[in-house]
Amino acid sequence: MKSESCQTDTDRRDGVPVHLPILSEKPLPVGALGVSAGPLIDGLARRIRYVRISLTDRCNYRCTYCMPDEGIELAPRADVLSFEELEATVRALQTVGVERVRLTGGEPTVRKDLIELVTRLGRLGLQDLALSTNGERLAELALPLRRAGLHRLNVSVDTLKPDRFAQVTRRGNLANVLAGLDAARAAGFAYTKLNCVAMRGFNDDELGALCRYAWDRDMIPRFIELMPMAEGQLFYPGTFLSVAEQRKILTAELGPLLSDAPDAESALPGVGPARYALVRYAGSLRKVGLISAVSEPFCDTCNRVRLSATGQLHACLAYDDAIDLRRVLRSGLVGDALLDRLVQAARGGLSDKRASHVFSESGCGGPRKHMVSIGG
Ligand code: SAM
Ligand code: SF4
Repeated sequence: MKSESCQTDTDRRDGVPVHLPILSEKPLPVGALGVSAGPLIDGLARRIRYVRISLTDRCNYRCTYCMPDEGIELAPRADVLSFEELEATVRALQTVGVERVRLTGGEPTVRKDLIELVTRLGRLGLQDLALSTNGERLAELALPLRRAGLHRLNVSVDTLKPDRFAQVTRRGNLANVLAGLDAARAAGFAYTKLNCVAMRGFNDDELGALCRYAWDRDMIPRFIELMPMAEGQLFYPGTFLSVAEQRKILTAELGPLLSDAPDAESALPGVGPARYALVRYAGSLRKVGLISAVSEPFCDTCNRVRLSATGQLHACLAYDDAIDLRRVLRSGLVGDALLDRLVQAARGGLSDKRASHVFSESGCGGPRKHMVSIGG
C-alpha cells in the first residue's frame, strides 16, 4: 500500500509538478528536420531504438500489482489509435532508426483483429516484432500470430501453482497459459521470455522452479522487481524483493550465477532492460534475466519509448508527461508530411526525456498512471 511518508512530486522533482502534462511538441515547420534526418536521440544523447506500443488499456485479468479489481477508467474507444494510425507511427519511427517494436497492453490479445495488425506491421521489415501477453488466449493465437509475422513472445507467469495464479491474476487460469506456452513452442516461437514479478511471501519459493520450467522448454526466465506505479496504490512494500535478494535465492536453489550474458534475443547487447546471468543446468549454461527497475536502475542505457493506446508517447515509464501523437495523426496530414511531423513531435518531446526515474522500495516515486494503461 502507498507509503504515508512519500514526499510530494513537486518536492521530489525540482519543483516541476510532474502530473501536469508537459507540452513537449515543439512547433517546427514540416520539413525542418525531414524524415531521414538522422537517428532519434534524447536530450542526454541516449539513442532510441525501441518502442513499446500499447494496443488497449483493457485486460481480461486484474493482476493485483497492475490493475485494481474494479478496473480503471477506460479511454474512450474513439481515442484509441486505429491500425492505420499505428502503422503510420511505426513507419515514422522506423525512418529515424527505431527497428524494434513490442506490442503490449493492457492485454494485447483482447484487441479485435490483432492478427491483422501484426500482419501489417510484419510487412514493415522490422528487425524485431514482439508481443507481451498474459497467455490466456495464446493456445488459439500462437500459430496465427506466428504466421502473421510475429517474431517473439513475452509471456507473464508469476507462479506455477494454480491457486496462487488465480489469486494474483484475479481472473486467470494457469492451465490456459501453460497450454498457450506449449502452443507457442509448437508454432515455432524461439527465445520466448517468461516474465515473473518476484514478490516476497508470494512466489519467492518458486524462483528456481520457474527457471527449470522455462529452461526445460528452451524459454528464458526473467524476474522483475515490483514497481510502484499508480503512486504506489497497488504496491505493498513488504512484498518488494530486490534483485540482490533474488540473486541469493537463485544461487541457493540453482547454484552460482555466472557473469552477465549478452541479451539472448539478438546480437545487440542491452536491447531490453534485463541483465542476464548464466546458470549451469542439465549439462549446459542457461540464461536468467533480472530486471532491477527499482533497486539498480538502468536509466543511463535506456533506449526505448512507449506509446499508449491513445497515442501518447511516453519518454519514460515512471512519469506521466507525454507527447500527443494522436493530435498529429488526426491533423489531416498524409504521406511523408505526416511521417515528418510525427518525427518532429517525437524529437521535440524526447529532448525532455528525464535522466532517471525516482522509484523507491517504499512505494514512492511512481507515476499517477497504472501499469495496465501503459504496458510495462
Ligand atoms: N498483459 C500483458 C502481460 O501481462 O504480459 C502485457 C502488459 S503487462 C502491464 C506487462 C508486464 O508488466 C507484465 O510482465 C507484468 O507482470 C508487468 N507489471 C505490471 N505491473 C507491474 C508492477 N507494478 N511492477 C512490475 N511489473 C509489473
Ligand atoms: Fe493485465 Fe498484464 Fe496487467 Fe496482468 S499484468 S492486469 S495481465 S495488463
